[in-house]
Amino acid sequence: MNILVINCGSSSIKYQVIDPEASEPLAAETIERVGGQGKDHAAALAEVLAAVERFSIAAVGHRVVHGGARFHDACLISDAVVEAIEACTVLAPLHNPANLAGIRAARRALPQIPQVAVFDTALHARLPRRARTYALAQELAEELGLRRYGFHGTSHAYVADLAADYLGRPMNELRLVSLHLGNGASACAIEHGHSVETSMGMTPLEGLVMGTRCGDLDPGVVLALIRARGVDDTDRLLNRESGLAGLSGRGNDFRDIEAAAASGDDSARLAIAVFAHRVRKYIGAYAAVMGGLDAVILTGGIGQNSATLRRRVLQRLSFLGLTLDEDRNTDACVERSHPVADVSAEPSRVRTLVVRTDEERHIALATAAIVGGGTEVRQAGPIPIAISARHVHLDRAAMDTLFGSESQLRELKPLAQPGQFAAEQKVALVGPRGRIEGVRVLGPLRRATQVEIARTDEFTLGVDAPIRRSGELSGSAPITLVGPAGTLNLEEGLICARRHIHMTTADAEAYGVRDGDEVEIRLEGGARDLTFGDVLIRVKDSYKLEMHIDTDEANAAEMSRGASGDLSYSPPVGGATAQLQLKRNQVH
Ligand code: ADP
Repeated sequence: MNILVINCGSSSIKYQVIDPEASEPLAAETIERVGGQGKDHAAALAEVLAAVERFSIAAVGHRVVHGGARFHDACLISDAVVEAIEACTVLAPLHNPANLAGIRAARRALPQIPQVAVFDTALHARLPRRARTYALAQELAEELGLRRYGFHGTSHAYVADLAADYLGRPMNELRLVSLHLGNGASACAIEHGHSVETSMGMTPLEGLVMGTRCGDLDPGVVLALIRARGVDDTDRLLNRESGLAGLSGRGNDFRDIEAAAASGDDSARLAIAVFAHRVRKYIGAYAAVMGGLDAVILTGGIGQNSATLRRRVLQRLSFLGLTLDEDRNTDACVERSHPVADVSAEPSRVRTLVVRTDEERHIALATAAIVGGGTEVRQAGPIPIAISARHVHLDRAAMDTLFGSESQLRELKPLAQPGQFAAEQKVALVGPRGRIEGVRVLGPLRRATQVEIARTDEFTLGVDAPIRRSGELSGSAPITLVGPAGTLNLEEGLICARRHIHMTTADAEAYGVRDGDEVEIRLEGGARDLTFGDVLIRVKDSYKLEMHIDTDEANAAEMSRGASGDLSYSPPVGGATAQLQLKRNQVH
């Protein structure tokens, strides 16, 4: 499958034709002098299309710099997606308009071919709240979208994947620091496959020293500059005349600065020292953030090519378990055919890997994954979500003990599942450590008494409840129930319910699942998106389509009532069992 990858900048269009199966791109070129005084984006794109006419293009993958808080993954481009990218323009006024011009021109020219947006921000979209929040008044921050987004996500994701492959370890057990050191530079802490910290913030100006960008500054400096020079000058100074170029006074090409430093130029030496120091500082900080470190990845033009810079950054880190091998470092060379070079000394517990980045390839892979590559996405609509508070199901004997002989449940209100209801009656739960009053009884009566609590209730009660599907009570935990007529000591019956989805046979067919399957479900609609793994599918024709999660799970997603999840289907890959994953409610 040939993917046309388009990186449409304000003054140039870079494109490649990539077959993910092939090691080399089939075509790659940059068209300069686009926008401004030059040709417009549509004309430039017409040139691109003429140049790639000989290839049969299955899909177009567009690089988009800023996806704001909206886009967590690459996605198929629709009118609504274009609008949503446009809405992110305030956050990337230089980049997003150019990206959009390319998208619009390509959609007009190739209306039949699926087009995918791949975002620089997507990898960081689920940065933990503590990492994405600036210490500003929250209302103001919310109003103006002042938060950290992070960039270079395509590069960090790509090199992290290659590093995990090289190390032969699953991504979900690795703690990586990825350093993209190019003209733009950023660090990213990737813990178990997730970006948990990254050095660029609301804009790509924060963090490391870059070619012409200053990186971290006391905001007081910005204020002083604005007072002295005005806003526009300050903007230009910080974005275009600072960083390595500002410090060295010799432009932003690291090779020139290294040559000048070698011949004794003090400004060039200072530029390199400040650059390297900043990178080192971030490595230490990110090791602390993740509580440990398995590998450091260096990539980007400088990270891949400058052995002296790598040495400067990585010396004296043996206290972290990281030791560089001088010879390997000097000899390291990464190419498309061998993109990873291990420059660690043998006893080094933390590996240091030089990895060749390839953002275009990452975009091609992401695009192929979305439009095909054997993955069929079955959209059968969102699934309503019900949040179950702790509750109790009683059998006849328990009802007699707790509420009196022959007592009946009185219906308070019906539940979504046909025939089920919340009863007026409540009981208290008593554990070795504490007591929870007012726990609702659900009706009708069942064959066995079952108490379902959330994890946090365990602390209150002082019990450990196993995670079980409803009705699987053998070996579950003991608990005491107290009702108005008596007390019941259960030997077993206390569980933490496994999250599950009720559906009919017809629903199951529509989603392509079967009773007992485990799926991934992505929840959206709360303040925080969340993907739940091991969600059990329960099929019965008397059920109504509904996902049940407990209050802890709902709290984790900060969801309120009425939210919904989506389920989509990808067929087995490489002999693995059928894998269901929930797609976020995409912007259609
Ligand atoms: P971008 O972030 O624009 O993609 P690159 O990743 O291409 O930038 O990195 C460009 C930087 O890499 C430049 O500063 C360049 O001088 C530096 N660089 C490229 N080759 C070498 C080299 N052999 N030694 C030192 N620096 C290099």
